[in-house]
Amino acid sequence: MIKEGIQASSGIAIAQAVVYVKQELTAEKKSIDDVQGECGRFSQAVEKSKQQLATLKEKTASEMSEEEAAIFDAHSMFLEDPEFVGAIEQSIKNDHINAEAATQAAVDQFYAMFQAMDDPYFKGRAADIQDVGNRLLRNLMGIEIMDISHLDHDVILVAKDLAPSDTATMDKVHVKGFATDVGSRTSHTAIMARSLEIPAVLGLEDITETTKNGEILIVDGITGSVIVDPTEEELKAYQQKKEKYDAYMAELAKLRDQEAVTTDGHKVKVVANIGNPKDVDGVVRNGGKGIGLYRSEFLYMNSDEMPDENKQFAAYKTVIEQFKDGDGVIIRTLDIGGDKKLPYLPLEDEMNPFLGLRAIRLCLSKPDLFKTQLRAILRASAFGKTRIMFPMIGNVDEVRQAKAILKTCMQELDAEGVDYDHQIEVGIMVEIPSAAITADIISDEVAFFSIGTNDLCQYTLAVDRMNQNVSYLYDPLHPAILRLVQNVIVQSHKKAGKFTGMCGEMAGDPVATLILLGLGLDEFSMSASSIPQVKKIIRSVSYKQAQEIANKAMTMSTGKEIRQYVQDTLNQLGIEVM
Ligand code: PEP
Ligand code: MG
Repeated sequence: MIKEGIQASSGIAIAQAVVYVKQELTAEKKSIDDVQGECGRFSQAVEKSKQQLATLKEKTASEMSEEEAAIFDAHSMFLEDPEFVGAIEQSIKNDHINAEAATQAAVDQFYAMFQAMDDPYFKGRAADIQDVGNRLLRNLMGIEIMDISHLDHDVILVAKDLAPSDTATMDKVHVKGFATDVGSRTSHTAIMARSLEIPAVLGLEDITETTKNGEILIVDGITGSVIVDPTEEELKAYQQKKEKYDAYMAELAKLRDQEAVTTDGHKVKVVANIGNPKDVDGVVRNGGKGIGLYRSEFLYMNSDEMPDENKQFAAYKTVIEQFKDGDGVIIRTLDIGGDKKLPYLPLEDEMNPFLGLRAIRLCLSKPDLFKTQLRAILRASAFGKTRIMFPMIGNVDEVRQAKAILKTCMQELDAEGVDYDHQIEVGIMVEIPSAAITADIISDEVAFFSIGTNDLCQYTLAVDRMNQNVSYLYDPLHPAILRLVQNVIVQSHKKAGKFTGMCGEMAGDPVATLILLGLGLDEFSMSASSIPQVKKIIRSVSYKQAQEIANKAMTMSTGKEIRQYVQDTLNQLGIEVM
């Protein structure tokens, strides 16, 4: 039986299924006389839960990253929260009910409250309170959860969804793939699967019901399908597909230390996008020699309070030092607003947050917040090649204002005698059509452009990048996008020493590589795992060929036509992409 889901992490896994269904916890309501004793039992469950969370945090921090481990701090915080814990104790005392029922009632109440919020951050807390509540209930009831931390054979983990505590504790040697009922490409499980390089297909709706424990499962993370109980022929075909994929990846791995250079010697940079310092491991493993986009907002989003200058400095410095002999690091200043919120920075609700007080607009309206970050970046620049990039620039005034604030920070550091790179380069992200169209004007103020196609597409094509209903219109190969990209590159090259990079998802899309190369893009920045494939394509053609391909694509009328043309060209050139 073949089931189609969401392709979340590439590769093929074939193994026995472990259906990881967590026991339903039903908190039966009982009246109690010994209020004191019941409160004591509840306190013990809280303590035990805290200890478990501390262990989980430690394991995650050492096996993954501090950022990933932070989720357990968020869970622990609920156990310290007087409103949550107090509500349970109060209902034990006042209503004379057992701790299980009191806990369930408080969890339900908090869950409903978070669920009702519009803000995606607080909505997300609903899942956390449920996770914490289940832990408390299990500890009160003495129920052990199925142990996936020590497995004796390879498995595909089949689950409704996987909580952070599941991925943290699971046996990372024997879990070969994920197949889940719910999830999206940006869900926690998807992010984890990609960072662990485990093939994953999510959103299969009822995979937990259609799969039995021990049944053989094939997870095809290349196409986003899962085969339950495959036939002999299917098994054979997928074993071959897996071997081919593994061989393809092994072949690509050989390019690790090769340059991204065309057959006639035109060199470009192929670098990586990261969200936190731990991502650097994957970049190095995939042969990335620099960072073209450090999404600094993750540092803010993974924190319970505004990260101070020293905390930011430490994070930036860690990354910068690792690439000081390579292509350096481009740090994007805080890109918050739109769909990204900070719990400790209340912002006014807006009708159209993506067109609202976002990114540089927000930073310019809060100079103190902005200065803290700029000072931290400047201080870190003393430790290796660093560039600063402002997001969501719409006009040259914003660049000038941001640079003026940067200058103030430099003067402050000079007065304090603090070292930094006085020649630090400043660039902007081109995400708004007005910036792309006026690249000739803006180029006087910046050292480089980096095209953020994720937003540039949504603003140019008037297509919400997160709206499924209009996703068919979201096309980075739309002639309008290609023309904007071309204009930015051409304008930057008119000024000596200036360059254009791209850090939107398009930069890592193999179908776009030849066109972007031919248009003269200088730097391709992408998720680490895409680096080898893009490098391979670049190394397979001459710059002249790429220019011809780009020129031809620029004459075409639709994205569909262009896509077909590039795919045919890749086939003709014998360049295999997976
Ligand atoms: C972009 O918009 O292309 C981009 C890289 O920024 P983000 O995806 O973080 O908005
Ligand atoms: Mg963007």
